[in-house]
Formats: sequence, C-alpha cells, structure tokens
Amino acid sequence: MSAELPFLPFSRPTIDEATITAVGEVLRSGWITSGPKVAAFEARMSEYFGGRPVRTFNSGTCTMEIALRIAGIGPGDEVITTPISWVATANVIIEVGATPVFADIDPVTRNIDLDQVEAAITPRTKAIIPVYLSGLPVDMDRLYAIAAKHKLRVVEDAAQAFGSEWKGKRIGAFGDFVSFSFQANKNLTTGEGGALVLNNLEEAKIAEKYRLQGVTRSGVDGIDVDVLGGKYNMSDIMAAIGLGQFDNIEAITAHRRALARRYYEAFGPDFEAQSGAQLPLQAFDSSNYHLFQIILPDHGPGTRADFMNAMKERFNIGTGYHYSPIHLFTLYRERGFKEGMFPVAEKLGYLTVTLPMFYAMTFADVDRAVAAVKAILIK
Ligand SMILES: *Cc1c(COP(=O)(O)O)cnc(C)c1O
Repeated sequence: MSAELPFLPFSRPTIDEATITAVGEVLRSGWITSGPKVAAFEARMSEYFGGRPVRTFNSGTCTMEIALRIAGIGPGDEVITTPISWVATANVIIEVGATPVFADIDPVTRNIDLDQVEAAITPRTKAIIPVYLSGLPVDMDRLYAIAAKHKLRVVEDAAQAFGSEWKGKRIGAFGDFVSFSFQANKNLTTGEGGALVLNNLEEAKIAEKYRLQGVTRSGVDGIDVDVLGGKYNMSDIMAAIGLGQFDNIEAITAHRRALARRYYEAFGPDFEAQSGAQLPLQAFDSSNYHLFQIILPDHGPGTRADFMNAMKERFNIGTGYHYSPIHLFTLYRERGFKEGMFPVAEKLGYLTVTLPMFYAMTFADVDRAVAAVKAILIK
C-alpha cells in the first residue's frame, strides 16, 4: 500500500522560477564566470553577517583549506576536529600538510565534545575545526573561551549551519573564520559552492589570491604571483542561484524548524522508550534543522542497512547516513587511527540515520516518514 506512494527522498533542492529566470539572464548576458553576480552575492552575505567580509568559492571544502592557509597552518602543526563529519573537514588539514587530531563527540549534541578538545590540546595545536552537525552549533561561548585561552585559531565548519543561530546571533556574524557550503543538499544551495566569512579586508585580499592561482595586482597593469593558489572561484551562474535562494532563507529556516516540530510531535513522548531509538536534541532557537537524524537501537552489524532497506522497500522512503567515523577510513588508519579511539563516534557513526528533511516537504510527508519508522522499530 505505502509502496505505491511517490518516492520521498531524504533531501531535494528547491529552485524557484524567479531564480531560474535570473540564471537565464546570466546565461544570455555574455558574462558567465565571476562577475557582478558574485560581487552582489558576497555583498548581500556580508550585510547578513553584520558587515564582516565574505568571499565566495566553488566549494565548502576549499573555503576551509584557504582559511587554514591564511592562518599560516602547515607542517608540524596540529588541528583538532571531530571524527563525525563529512570527510572534507579532516582532509583539508592533511591537504595543508598539518596533522589531524580528533576529539570524540558528545552523545547528546553529536557535535565535538569541548572537554575532549581541551584534553587534546598540545603545544603544537594551532587551530580547532568544530562542525555544526545537522545545523546545531556547539557551545560557542565555551569554544571561543578555549580558543582565547590557548591562542588557537578557529575555522568553523558551518557547512550545514547557514541560518543557524547562537543566543540570537547568526552563525557567521561573529567568531573567527566561518565556512559555509552551498552543495546541492545544503539549506542554501548554488549547485556546488561555498563562502568564507573572514575577520578583516586584509584576510579577504589573501583569500582572493588563494582563490585564483595566487595572482596579485602589481604595478599599473601588471600581475604577479607570490603564493601558490588554486582555481576556486564561483561563477555568476552559481551566484545567481545563490541570490535567488538567499531571498528565501528566512522562509527556508522557518519551514525546516516547523517540520522538525512536526517530527517531534508525530513521534510523541513515548517513541524513545518504545523503540529504543534516540531523537535529536530539540533546538528550535539555534538549529536550522539541516538534517533530522535519529540513532537506531543497536541490533549489531547491519542495523542501519536493514533499517534503510526497510524504509526503501516497504515504504518507498529514502534515508541517508551522515557520517561514518572519519578516523576509520583507510587514509586515516594509515596515519595510526584505529577502532576504540573514539567510542562515542564509533557507536553513533554506525547507528545514526538521516530522515527526510527539505524545504518542499509537507507535514503529511513527515507523518508518513514517522509512521514508517514506527512500523519498523516498534514491534
Ligand atoms: C557539505 C559539507 C562539507 C563540504 O562542502 P562541499 O561544498 O561539498 O565541499 C564539509 N563539511 C560538512 C559538515 C558538510 O556538510
């Protein structure tokens, strides 16, 4: 019966007609690479983040790599991050030649545990990369107190947190480097893309160099190259999508929060006791609910695969997993990481499942997803 309902994916981008028209205008304009749309998108984000400089890029990965380079972090330096994130978060540390150090996660927030961060600090520690998983910030007061005490830079991996807040302030409007991703599933998308919020125009100028081959202006009409940069610029086609999405960001965040409320209501107060599963923290004032993730009751190997298959086969509903513990990937095992080092991350990494959550989703879709989860987990 349920299988006859249309497929409900765990995520789907919404691009409105005004945005499609705006993209068409860029395509007809004769200028499709970085230009006026990129400048306008950066200016609007800068205004949104209280006037802090913002620069756009072609991913939310190179943003973090460039932030580390601006901070002068490289070989011999240690950078502390979480084992539960998209692998990009740790890869950028290796990319700049520094050493990744993991700190285990907090089982309630599922974000990096700041006590574990403090315990992992050594004289070689230069920076922390916290991740706001599913859009939930860490304790930002505590994070920046730790950074100040130990003189560490912070590169916030806020890839999932566009529109999230901390005590009434937008994530991005304060702090050190703040990195956002506009990859297809993110709350605000440009197809692929990213943005970095910086501290001052001097850093922004360096970011611009790294964004385009290290090229810098010198002389009247000459150029020079004084650092090794990459090819990381955003195009006006992407920026036009971003500007269109930006017009709806308040509505996007509000609707996702409403969907999250509906999830909690539909699961009801007895769901956790009846199923053995764990719902995410309720955080309507801070999280943008980029993802809605539950932790499954542990039935041994295959727990998550069996659940995901049942959701798909019996109910035609897509789910996802975000994320496998980074330290257990081969690249990281080769660097000495192994099972047992971060027990909370290892447990949650294999039991967390992402339920459908996207802007075009309806309350009826939420009810359908919850009914399916209950049918599978409550015997
Ligand atoms: C999406 C994402 C990234 C990477 O962003 P890209 O734009 O795909 O490079 C990094 N970290 C987290 C937590 C993400 O969700």
